[in-house]
Amino acid sequence: MAAVPVEKGVSRALAEYRAENISDVHYSLSFSVPEKVNEPVAFFETLSFRWFGDEDLQIDFQGDPDDLDGVVMVNGKAVDAVVRNEHIIIPKRYLHMGINKIMIGGISSDKALNRHEEFMYTLFVPDHARSAFPCFDQPDLKAYFSLELELPEGWVSMSNDTEYPIPTYLFSFTAGKFQQQTVMRDNRELTAMYRETDPDKVKQLSTVFDQVALSLNWMERYTSVAFPFEKYGFVILPGYQFGGMEHPGCIQFNDTKIFLGPNPSPDEERARLNLIAHETAHLWFGDLVTMKWFDDVWTKEVFANFMADKISREQFPGIDHDLAFIKTHYPVAMSTDRTRGTHPIQQPLDNLDQAGLLYGNIIYHKAPIMMRKLEQEKGADALRKGLRNYLSKYDYSNATWDDLIAELDNFAPEHSARSFSDVWVKQKGMPVISCSRSDSDQVEVIQADPFGRGLVWKQSLDIGFASDGNPLADADRHIYMNQQRVPIDVPISRSTILNYDGEGYGCFVMEDDVIEVLCDGWKNLPEDKNRYAAVLNLYENCLMGRVTPEKLLDTFINFLNHESNELIASTLCSDIAALCRRIDGDYREKVERQLLDMAGSHSLQSVRQALLRQLAVSALSPVVVERLHEVWSRQESSLLNNRDYTRMAYHLAIVQPDRWQQILSVQRDRLKTIDEINEFDFISRACTPDEQVQQQLFDDLLKVENRRVEPWAQTLLALLNDPTREPMSNRYLEPGLNALPEIQATGDIFFPGYWLASLLGGHRSEEAKEIVSSWIATHQSLSPALMNKLLENAYWLLDMGK
Ligand SMILES: [Zn+2]
Repeated sequence: MAAVPVEKGVSRALAEYRAENISDVHYSLSFSVPEKVNEPVAFFETLSFRWFGDEDLQIDFQGDPDDLDGVVMVNGKAVDAVVRNEHIIIPKRYLHMGINKIMIGGISSDKALNRHEEFMYTLFVPDHARSAFPCFDQPDLKAYFSLELELPEGWVSMSNDTEYPIPTYLFSFTAGKFQQQTVMRDNRELTAMYRETDPDKVKQLSTVFDQVALSLNWMERYTSVAFPFEKYGFVILPGYQFGGMEHPGCIQFNDTKIFLGPNPSPDEERARLNLIAHETAHLWFGDLVTMKWFDDVWTKEVFANFMADKISREQFPGIDHDLAFIKTHYPVAMSTDRTRGTHPIQQPLDNLDQAGLLYGNIIYHKAPIMMRKLEQEKGADALRKGLRNYLSKYDYSNATWDDLIAELDNFAPEHSARSFSDVWVKQKGMPVISCSRSDSDQVEVIQADPFGRGLVWKQSLDIGFASDGNPLADADRHIYMNQQRVPIDVPISRSTILNYDGEGYGCFVMEDDVIEVLCDGWKNLPEDKNRYAAVLNLYENCLMGRVTPEKLLDTFINFLNHESNELIASTLCSDIAALCRRIDGDYREKVERQLLDMAGSHSLQSVRQALLRQLAVSALSPVVVERLHEVWSRQESSLLNNRDYTRMAYHLAIVQPDRWQQILSVQRDRLKTIDEINEFDFISRACTPDEQVQQQLFDDLLKVENRRVEPWAQTLLALLNDPTREPMSNRYLEPGLNALPEIQATGDIFFPGYWLASLLGGHRSEEAKEIVSSWIATHQSLSPALMNKLLENAYWLLDMGK
């Protein structure tokens, strides 16, 4: 066998070689964290492992080679530390079969240490552990960790502290000035660390602990596998770049998702439980059983979401959960799946340094839809039995999606999970489904593959009918789409409403008369799910260019006026917000006035809140802006929380440039914590009307040190590209796109997508379109995953309505 080449990152070939030749890995680590944030963190490590190999050993290290102590101790011998392409090379003559011990000291790169003045936290997923200490940074070399920390005076810490083996991406510690709370729930100790000081927010911890306990109990019941680790601890972090991360023993949460403002919306409450349940479910799916390689990262994400949806069903019994599931996942999954940047749920991955690009809406939202359809295909009982066997067969170890499929197909083999997965999981895109009438008046439902591969996405669909312009309440039926054309029996005088209950996944092409029926006869649709489906399908048909944004806006505003279901209303609000960005002038003014009225009068508080929040960051018409300014300056609406008022201040400062300084200084005085003020001082600079300063801020963002707190950088970039700032802001497009590979190399996993959304989201002009199209045309050598991210985010600028 040829030697494994020494390549940057962690190549699949290297990972496979090491998985075969290394076992029994232990890391004994110490880090000393200095008082000052600009002084480096030093590490010392003893790495021991069993070795069966016959090549030089590559240990992953993505720091500066000069930051290593000059020698590495290998089995007691001093060896020169040779670093090549992000690997420390240990010549094979120093290694022996059996246990080897290597000692290394040096400086950690700050890349994944997330250092702030008063705290720091490590976040190593997917392959960033190697930037902090030398390691085998691959998910299938699980290891035992022991950790010592030397910290500044007054700092506390939390880490995994587990007796079970975990992969490097799940190893973590957080340290700094934090409050702590420990409670007992069901004889289990739960510990929280947090920096929040507002007593109304801190009080919410009790709900959080309850929801953790609920999630743990639920997971134990569903899986029949007891809580797999010794302790449950979590840290609530400001400026956090994810929603959460499932490090066992020290889960991390985003503070804005856990500590809600006064009057949180039902969506925010559900999202919080979903997040807690999601990270808790990962302790089984991801932490106990881990994917072999990051191409299967979606398996842990899909089960975390799948379980979170089930847990949420118990916690919020008053909600229509089938509808909630559709609302949570379908629109978001389709927002990527309809674009040219879509990709299969399972994607190939040659090197872990590209793993971050696998994450996105397809993993987080299409995969749960696929899972639900697989559950319908196989039956809930067979699925659960298969999952239980999978968890006990592979506990504290690794498995692939195909291993899981094999376990599932031990039950109900007549409904093959494998053939289902070959289309839904391994191929990209979604079906385009339409009706056709042949000469014999036979109506058929046809599913077409937009990429011309002739694939069939197996699923059940609900069909409704309309007669004389009205939907018929008693005339819906199921069809099973297991082939490209499925005939249905329908009187010729009736129109067919595809995807009548919204459960169908795909792009449903509505006939013109059906569009009219849905727009006009909407209130006659019999059930909530039928109305929701109408919203989903009409919106998609608008994006296809079959309904104009103006007509759909008028229709949706009318729907919203009469809607009393929170879930439907919430989707209407976000669709209206998206469509509003496509319109201008008098028509926009008319719409904004209508929305402002409804923000004062709608019967649902969640609608009043959603509309006000939306106008607060997007309104352009002078009358509406002036009214919002009053709301802001008197802080008169209890529907808005401090964060909303801050976002509103940014927007007002931009659209009322003659008052920008005054607006910002009032808002700054309202802030209470040092974390809030630091964030504000960073972001609010974008509100300056001075174009030279704006340009300078943009240029600064191109330097990695100015993007250290990614959520801040992303908001700053979005404000610089505010829709009101075209054409000036068009000059950021090219350099912003040129920076993509560097953004990907230096940023966290979601950041390339966020960067693109912030850079492109505010642009609509022909000039912007031209710049982005020609950039795409001249950069075809960009990595396919990165190009997909770009095409996905450029959809509204380049492809909408085509
Ligand atoms: Zn997750």
